[in-house]
Amino acid sequence: MPQTHTRIDPLFEAEGARNPLAILKTVYGYPAFRGKQADVVERVVSGGDAVVLFPTGAGKSLCFQIPALCRDGVGIVVSPLIALMRDQVEALKQLGVRAAALNSSLTREEFIDVRRAIAGGDLDLLYVTPERIVTPAFKEMIGNAKISLFAIDEAHCVSQWGHDFRPEYRELGQLAEHYPGVPRMALTATADPHTREDIIDKLGLRGAEVFTTSFDRPNIAYEIVERDQPRQQLLRFLSRHKGSSGIVYCLSRAKVEDTAEWLNGQGVRALAYHAGMDRAVRDANQDAFLKEEDLCLVATVAFGMGIDKPNVRYVAHLDLPGSVEAYYQETGRAGRDGLPSDVWMAYGMADVIQRGRMIDGGTSGDDIKRVERAKLNALLAICETPGCRRQAILAHFGEAHPGRCESCDTCLKPVETWDGTDAAIKALAAIYRTGERFGTGHLIDVLLGNENDKTERFGHSKMPVFGAGKDIPSKTWQSVYRQLLAAGLISVDHEAFGALKLEPDARAVFKREREVRFRKDRPATGKGKSARQSAASGAKSALSGSDAELFEALRRARSGIAKELGVPPYVVFPDTTLIAFATERPHSSDALLGISGVGQSKLERYGDAFLEVIRGFE
Ligand code: ADP
Ligand code: ZN
Repeated sequence: MPQTHTRIDPLFEAEGARNPLAILKTVYGYPAFRGKQADVVERVVSGGDAVVLFPTGAGKSLCFQIPALCRDGVGIVVSPLIALMRDQVEALKQLGVRAAALNSSLTREEFIDVRRAIAGGDLDLLYVTPERIVTPAFKEMIGNAKISLFAIDEAHCVSQWGHDFRPEYRELGQLAEHYPGVPRMALTATADPHTREDIIDKLGLRGAEVFTTSFDRPNIAYEIVERDQPRQQLLRFLSRHKGSSGIVYCLSRAKVEDTAEWLNGQGVRALAYHAGMDRAVRDANQDAFLKEEDLCLVATVAFGMGIDKPNVRYVAHLDLPGSVEAYYQETGRAGRDGLPSDVWMAYGMADVIQRGRMIDGGTSGDDIKRVERAKLNALLAICETPGCRRQAILAHFGEAHPGRCESCDTCLKPVETWDGTDAAIKALAAIYRTGERFGTGHLIDVLLGNENDKTERFGHSKMPVFGAGKDIPSKTWQSVYRQLLAAGLISVDHEAFGALKLEPDARAVFKREREVRFRKDRPATGKGKSARQSAASGAKSALSGSDAELFEALRRARSGIAKELGVPPYVVFPDTTLIAFATERPHSSDALLGISGVGQSKLERYGDAFLEVIRGFE
C-alpha cells in the first residue's frame, strides 16, 4: 500500500470547508491522503494543471473531486461512458456532494434543472461526455458560471496507441482556449510511454505537472497457464472464486456467448457482454454485474473501461490479450479496493498465430503492424518467462520491482528450466531444412519422424532432421517453439499461413555461441495447485469465525439498502469499510465515524442501520 501523507502546507491548514484534508475526513471519511494524492490536490487547488498517471485503485477520483470542492465554481469531469456517469453521480450524492451528469439520457426537465443549478452556482461537479463539452451549446449553457476545473478522465482515449481510442477526445485540446485560466487535469491508469506523450501533446498539457506512482498492483496475483482443456481449466479457476464477481475475457463475440452459456450449464451464474448485442440487454448485463456480488461477466474487451466496481475479485483471459498494455489494463480491473484478487490467463500457440494474422490482415500501415507484432512478442515473453511475472510486467513499463513478488504463479511454484541448446538447434534446423515454409504442426511431425502425406510429398522424411527429435514429446516441442518465438529467435510469417521463419539471432544458437534455457511446462491437467490456494473472496479471506459471519450479515444489510436505492452495493459502503465494521465492531456514531469510508453524510444515512446489525450480533 502506498504511504500516507501528513501535510503542513498553509493550503492544507485553510479554514473549514475549503481545507482539503477536512473535506477528505468529513465528506469521504478517510483519515489521510494516499501516495501523491495530496500533491495533486495541492497543485490543482492552487490553479495549476496536472497529468495524473496512477494505476487503477490508487484513488484518482479524489484528485479532482476534492479540488472541485475546495475551489469556487463547478468542476467539470469529462467521462466517456454515459452508462457509468449515473453511478458516479449517485456515489457522490451519497456523500452529500452536489453532482449531476449532462448527457443525452436526460429528460427535458432534468436538463433544465441541471442548467439552473449551474447558473445558480449550486453544483460542485458536473459529468459531461467529450462530444458535448466542445459544442457552442455547452459554452452557452455555462454562460458566466464559474468553472473550478476540468478533469479529463480516461485520458488515454486521446491516443491511437492505446486500445480505447476515441476521436472525440482529440477535440478536448480546445478547452484551454475556450476557458482560459481554468485548471485542467488529465487522468489515466495507462502506463505506456507513447500514450502518456500523446496525452500531454494532444490535450495541450505541456505546462502541466506530471504525477506518477508505481504501477505495481500488489494485491493482484498473476497466473498464466498453458492451454490444454480451456473450459475445464477455467472452471477450476472459477471454483476458487465462488460467491464473488469477476470478468472472463474472450476474443470473439461468438466465444463470449458460447462460454457464458456453457458456464451457466455448469452452475456458474454468467452473463455475456459484447458490442454486437442488443443495447438494452448489454446495458442490463452491465448493470447486473455492477449490482450483483456473485456474477461472472463473460465479455470481449468492449467491456471494462470506466467500470469502477471496486470488488471485481478475478479477471480471466481465455485468449491472449493484444499487448502487455492491454493485459495490464484488463487485469487491472480486478481488486480496485485493494483486497486480494486473482488474474489468470490460458494461452497457446494458436493464439499467437491468430493474433498475428489479425495484425497482418488489418488495414494499418507497415509501421503500425511492426509495432503491433513487437507488442505481441513482448506479451509472449511474459507468458513464457520462468521468472517473476510481476517483475516482467513492470519491467515492460520501465519499472524495477525489487526481488520476486512471491505471489504470482512462477514465484509460488518456481518453474524449472532445462538446457535446451540441443533441442533449440534441432527445432531451428527443422525450420531451416524445410525451407521456412511450415507451421509447428508439420515441423513437429518432422522432428518426431511421423510419416504422413506431407512428409512424403515434400521429401522431408529423407532428411537427417526427420525423427531427430523422437526423444522429446510433442507437447514439449510445442513449448520449445513458443519459447523460441518469445525469445525472438524465430517469427511467424502470417502471409505464408503461419510458417515459422528464422530470425538473425538464431545464427548464434546454431553456432553454439548462445546457450538456450527453456522453462519446463507444468503438467497442465490434474489437480495442479492453484497459484494461491484461495483468494476466494478477497474480503472473506481476511476474516475469521464470527467476524466473517458478521461481515455476511452486514453485506446482506448493505444489499437491501442498495436494492432499495437502485445503486450498486459498493456505493453504500465498500467491502473494506464492512470489514472494518466486522473486526472493530463500532457501537456508536462516533466510533463509526472513526472508520475509514464513513463520512458525515453516510453516517446520517446508514449509520443506524449498520449499528443495529453490529449490536444485534453480540
Ligand atoms: P482509481 O480511479 O485511481 O482507479 P478510485 O478513485 O476509484 O481509483 O479509488 C479506489 C478506491 O480507493 C475507492 O474505493 C476510493 O474511495 C478509495 N480511496 C481513494 N483515496 C483514498 C484514501 N485517501 N483513503 C482511503 N481510501 C481511498
Ligand atoms: Zn512473482
